Amino acid sequence: MVVRAVCPRCGRQVHAPTAWSSAWRCDLHGEIYPLFPARRPSKDGLDSLLKTAMVPVWLPWPLPQGWLVCGFTGAGDERTGTRGSAVALSGPNPLGGPADLLIVAEDPGVGLGAGLAGLPGPDPGDGFAAGQPNATVKVANHEAPLWLVESDHEAVFAGEVAGSWLWVVLWPDTAGALLVEPLPLRDLRNRELDLDLPFGALSPRLPG
Ligand SMILES: [Zn+2]
Repeated sequence: MVVRAVCPRCGRQVHAPTAWSSAWRCDLHGEIYPLFPARRPSKDGLDSLLKTAMVPVWLPWPLPQGWLVCGFTGAGDERTGTRGSAVALSGPNPLGGPADLLIVAEDPGVGLGAGLAGLPGPDPGDGFAAGQPNATVKVANHEAPLWLVESDHEAVFAGEVAGSWLWVVLWPDTAGALLVEPLPLRDLRNRELDLDLPFGALSPRLPG
């Protein structure tokens, strides 16, 4: 059976483990946590991500007005567990027109957030978090700061929350206005939440 997976950092197809190495390999990045095809925006899609998630699976909740959940993806295999999670959403840009949003949680070095944002990565890089924070997320009544990461066409925020990197990536960049107010987040691994999620069509921002 051929299992197709791509590199979370560059999107290239990667090589499956062999008899000599248990890791997936990218020609460019060496050993990586493989990214399998995106999971459908459905309860089953979410459950399949939650089953192996070793990092938070963040969702803005309550959802901003008119926003829908548009799919999931995770980096990692059965051996490692999912070390990078991404939740995709779409909805109205506060400044007009449609917008897309990805929320990523990952261990250092995975590179999923930077990869999805089109940045070299894997982590936010030198000089990150040197100045005043640019936004805030709120998790269980605690606020955590995020900083803007320089980027061309999207708004990219990153910070460290609950022991993992958190990335918030918005297209177009003007949709960064969503973070004018602190963004409340829930970790979907907490099954007690039992949220009734509104699902939309699969986000084009997630790798096939
Ligand atoms: Zn790569």
